[in-house]
Amino acid sequence: MNAKIAILPGDGIGPEIVAQAVKVLDALRREGLKIETETAPIGGAGYDAAGDPLPEATLRLAEAADAVLLGAVGGPQYDTLPRELRPERGLLRIRKELNLFANLRPALLYPELAAASTLKPEVVAGLDLMIVRELTGDVYFGAPRGIETRAGERVGVNTMLYSEGEIRRVARVAFDIAMKRGRRLCSVDKANVLECSELWRTVVTEVARDYPQVELTHMYVDNAAMQLVRAPKQFDVILTGNLFGDILSDEAAMLSGSIGMLPSASLDAHGKGLYEPIHGSAPDIAGQDKANPLATVLSLAMMFRYSLDDAETAGRIEAAVRKVIAAGYRTGDIYSPGCRLVSCSAMGDAVVAAL
Ligand code: NAD
Repeated sequence: MNAKIAILPGDGIGPEIVAQAVKVLDALRREGLKIETETAPIGGAGYDAAGDPLPEATLRLAEAADAVLLGAVGGPQYDTLPRELRPERGLLRIRKELNLFANLRPALLYPELAAASTLKPEVVAGLDLMIVRELTGDVYFGAPRGIETRAGERVGVNTMLYSEGEIRRVARVAFDIAMKRGRRLCSVDKANVLECSELWRTVVTEVARDYPQVELTHMYVDNAAMQLVRAPKQFDVILTGNLFGDILSDEAAMLSGSIGMLPSASLDAHGKGLYEPIHGSAPDIAGQDKANPLATVLSLAMMFRYSLDDAETAGRIEAAVRKVIAAGYRTGDIYSPGCRLVSCSAMGDAVVAAL
């Protein structure tokens, strides 16, 4: 493998947390892994450097890379900029330019952190599920849309729309992931009342024929929302559309209770991906070496598994994170009495030592 990774630290705690993932990469490189990295600004940092939250050079670098590792973007100093110059716009644009249509959000809870969840420890301890959300279609993008006047009163209109091609490509991503995990896939829809969901269910069932080793089930979204808090450990991989996935992935994130622990990935049709923690740039703790870097380190592990096809290295990074958690290392956001409070950089060093 001779992989090229674009590193986009971004704003706020972004540079601090990405630096810890880079420490892990450097350690792997010292062992002989062939990885090239190049760093570029995005978000507010892109605006400061080049007057654009997604500078042309940053986009070119991301396009040429095998995968992109991103920290976070945004900060109060940019909130008064015109909308198209705001940091978040850089993130939306890079996702669009790279054609990232499949969003992967694991919800994983180490037994030692079960107390951080608002749910009973026995319900969530050991939780390990993956939500695959379609990211570029559905009611957010369908036409017609708008607010118009009909029969003398205003009506709001949006259109839930999926083509079979859009459903098929994200279903393939989800089945491929299920093959790399527990081989169980639950497709979530509302096929009892929505034609769009009816097609979704039909196409997902067709794709399943190519994956005989994966057990496919279907669930209505209202039931899925309930099952996620009743018995979340029943799930391995959940596949769903943009709207339902938007809501269910936040619900699943809260099961684990610690935003600083959750990675994510957005993939294109060729396995290229953008990897980032689910949290934002945390301006309230930026520059204080306090942030939890583990969501970013776990995003790097996902990159090895899903874009670089190196499950062994992914597994080693994840095992190192498990080890530091089991050894009691905690940043402030996941600290509980009796544990060892460490800084962002000390947590990065501990992961490298555990590797
Ligand atoms: P946030 O996720 O940045 O912070 C929410 C809370 O969680 C804060 O108290 C913060 O200190 C804490 N937190 C977040 N990540 C942490 C970590 N790794 N370790 C320890 N604590 C952590 O959300 P917000 O405050 O709503 O937004 C702040 C800025 O981030 C805004 O400009 C927003 O637009 C931006 N944002 C960016 C992204 C992204 O880059 N993908 C996502 C969400 C928000």
